[in-house]
Amino acid sequence: MKDYHKLSDIQADLNAGSINCVSLVEDYLKRIDENQDLNAFVDVYAHDARARATVIDAKIKHGTAGKLAGMVIGIKDNIVYKDHPVSAASKILDGFQSLFSATVVERLLEEDAIIIGRLNCDEFAMGSSNRFSKYGAVKNPLDKDRVAGGSSGGSAAAVSAGLCLASLGSDTGGSIRQPASFTGIYGFKPTYGRISRHGLIAFASSFDQIGPFARSAEDISTLYEVMAGPDNFDNTLSKQEVKKASEAELPKKLRIAYFKDALESEKLDPKVREESERIIKELEEQGHEVKGIDFPFLDTMVPVYYILTTAEASSNLARYDGIHFGYRSENAHDLESTYKLSRTEGFGPEVKRRILLGTFVLSSGYYDAYYGKAQKARRLVQDKTNEIFEDFDLIFSPTTPHTAFRIDQVESDPTQMYLEDIFTVHANITGCPSISLPLAKHENGLPLGMQFTAQRFKEAELLAFAQTLVHN
Ligand code: GLN
Repeated sequence: MKDYHKLSDIQADLNAGSINCVSLVEDYLKRIDENQDLNAFVDVYAHDARARATVIDAKIKHGTAGKLAGMVIGIKDNIVYKDHPVSAASKILDGFQSLFSATVVERLLEEDAIIIGRLNCDEFAMGSSNRFSKYGAVKNPLDKDRVAGGSSGGSAAAVSAGLCLASLGSDTGGSIRQPASFTGIYGFKPTYGRISRHGLIAFASSFDQIGPFARSAEDISTLYEVMAGPDNFDNTLSKQEVKKASEAELPKKLRIAYFKDALESEKLDPKVREESERIIKELEEQGHEVKGIDFPFLDTMVPVYYILTTAEASSNLARYDGIHFGYRSENAHDLESTYKLSRTEGFGPEVKRRILLGTFVLSSGYYDAYYGKAQKARRLVQDKTNEIFEDFDLIFSPTTPHTAFRIDQVESDPTQMYLEDIFTVHANITGCPSISLPLAKHENGLPLGMQFTAQRFKEAELLAFAQTLVHN
């Protein structure tokens, strides 16, 4: 099978008749089978995918196929698909099947995408390494001793290894962009309020967004355009028109800011700094204006993120009580022990840590000191960011402070892992669209993502810009 990087190449071959969807699906299924050690897929929908491929081949023949005909796609295990199991990689959802499909799934299917399976992730999307999963860790296809990133590690590994052309993930604090960076592919988080969250298993509802992983900026745009836009099932969605990247008017000279403190941070791997500086130079050579600016909230953002998201998670995850969904403890003997034992046995250690932290920051004695204060800090970050976008079109930074770390790297202090999110949480705190592009390589041979963030609802401009950057 050809190693396809773009839907347009697949569609050209489909139209020329050198392949068809049935053969394409068989090829991907074979690759999935050969790469089981990556632990990217937790379920493969071989039967469904084959059946849909036959239907779509007939549509192609009749000239009635949708925009995504030929796109074989995987979905993160926290996005629901009617009559299919979904678990958020948690034991607490053991045996649960969804009665409906997420809006994004329906939109993909309407355009004739083929969903080939569901993908491993951190439990309830909490993590940066995909090691907190009931299915075990995902391996990075570029170095199997290393993590693929998280929480959407399976979605990233599958696309990077060519087990599907694209995938969906969710990004609450970087869970699309960080694994995209670690595995050398494209990952995009749209504006909060652009893509329906209906059918996404909630982690932190004022931060969560669904977005695509792909092997080209074009496919990211195509998937975004298919999924974005109002939906009656999600009233946080904007009614603003979804402009296509191809319709964006991009000034020749863009004004791009970066946070001086971010590039000077001692937490940054020196090679990441060097590569970021190389990209800045290249951008300047392309005629853009790039300027280092002061941003006083860099160290504030990770604590704000973890206070607010754990607070929201503690509330969202209250519904898993051993009665409504999935797992129920066999040792339970009355209502209270059903709640207590099912939750104790059903949730993993990271999810428990976050529920406890979230409950604490919301508790009456500490609400003002933590939750209230973090909300105020969120507003300050948002206001400052709006101010920056009065003078600049984009904000640039490396996606992560270093490349993919080893799977066996021991972290005795969980807050060490939380610092992993230092560059990505900004876009979630502010709701801005943000993309990680595979523009650099470390001297250790691993890929390094570069991140561009735009003003809210400026996806078209951001994606048009991403398409102008050459893949090294
Ligand atoms: N690493 C972050 C966390 O653990 C991001 C998670 C996400 O975006 N879902 O919260």
